[in-house]
Amino acid sequence: MLNFITSIKGAAMPSIEIIAIGTELLLGEIQDTNTRYLARAAMDAGIDLYRATLIGDNPQRITGAIQEALNRADIIITTGGLGPTVDDPTRLAVAMAAGTELEFRPELWEQITSRFLRYGRNATENNRRQAYIPKGSVGIENPVGTAPAFYMEFGKRIVISLPGVPREMEYLYTHAVLPLLQDKFQLNQTIVAKVLHVSGLGESMVDDLIGDLETLANPTVGLLAHPGQVDIRVTAKAASKELAAALIQPIAEDIQQRLGDNIFGSDGITLEDVIIQKLTNRQKGLLLALHGMGNTLAKRLNADANSIPFSLHDESLYPGMLEAAARALSAANPEVLVLTANYIPGADRQTLEVGVIDGPVWKTDTRSYGGSPLLGQHWAENIILDFLRRNL
Ligand code: ATP
Repeated sequence: MLNFITSIKGAAMPSIEIIAIGTELLLGEIQDTNTRYLARAAMDAGIDLYRATLIGDNPQRITGAIQEALNRADIIITTGGLGPTVDDPTRLAVAMAAGTELEFRPELWEQITSRFLRYGRNATENNRRQAYIPKGSVGIENPVGTAPAFYMEFGKRIVISLPGVPREMEYLYTHAVLPLLQDKFQLNQTIVAKVLHVSGLGESMVDDLIGDLETLANPTVGLLAHPGQVDIRVTAKAASKELAAALIQPIAEDIQQRLGDNIFGSDGITLEDVIIQKLTNRQKGLLLALHGMGNTLAKRLNADANSIPFSLHDESLYPGMLEAAARALSAANPEVLVLTANYIPGADRQTLEVGVIDGPVWKTDTRSYGGSPLLGQHWAENIILDFLRRNL
């Protein structure tokens, strides 16, 4: 196993940067889903993504962004800015980055006009702009839209410009760009990640327990902290998904051993999922008796409850009455568990008194946590869910 890890470490992986172009992206009018798509696609292809840029429709600034990216990465993919209007800047920006000019490509013009004819329309003179691409670049036919894409090689590096419309961008990436990159960079690796979800242990505690694994090279181990939850991402590169999974497995098992039942699930499983599953297995309902928390917790549980036979009940009770009220609810509804929580907000320290009545058993706990009061509610909810999943 160790030999294998060493050989992977030695393999050179190409790196990529993504540049999403469009002022409307910067203004927040539309969400940049193209970067997300390409980031995941790069990971699948075993290409290292180190940086992504969002930039407005300004040719000079885009030129600068491309030149900077070329100093760092092997592959640069731009999306957007290939339309037929004067302010569609990408073709010009790539030409300027290469120190060249735009040149008319009759074959691209032919593709554009015949595509328009198929739509029963005539291409306008504006559309001619889309048949101009930088001198020395190679056109990529776009069979699912009108804007041709293109790529330009800069020595061993490459800039690929794709349209902004996600459906077109994704089609061209899959059918033209990926095969091109596989060929040029002999891509023979893939990246696979497994995420372990932890609750009931803070980030620094998790770090104490698995810090030595965070220095590994392949797989890598990284932490991401949320209020009341820590995610541990184990990421491996290998020649196939199966080999990458085999690299991940012993590390994930090691982490599992060290953290035990502080890990509640993996790969997107939520605390709500775990609780609902446990309640369903026990054919138990759940009632909530909460103080100071509003009803977002009930909503979170309900959102996932679908048709599972249990009801939620959000009581806003006085703290001193919680236990008595919970006992009364439990007596009246013997088939359900009753969860109580009293959330006490504080300026920099918040406290949560939480309890569950499960038949005759009454378990309670008090937990305090620091951090911004703005996140207090979110912390409280996850702490309650952690308490509940451990006591079901
Ligand atoms: P076309 O000629 O087909 O318009 P284009 O390359 O000029 O292509 P843009 O004009 O930049 O693309 O964007 C067209 C549309 O595509 C935008 O209005 C937006 O809806 C969508 N789009 C552009 N960039 C992105 C992005 N990064 N993420 C998601 N959607 C995007």
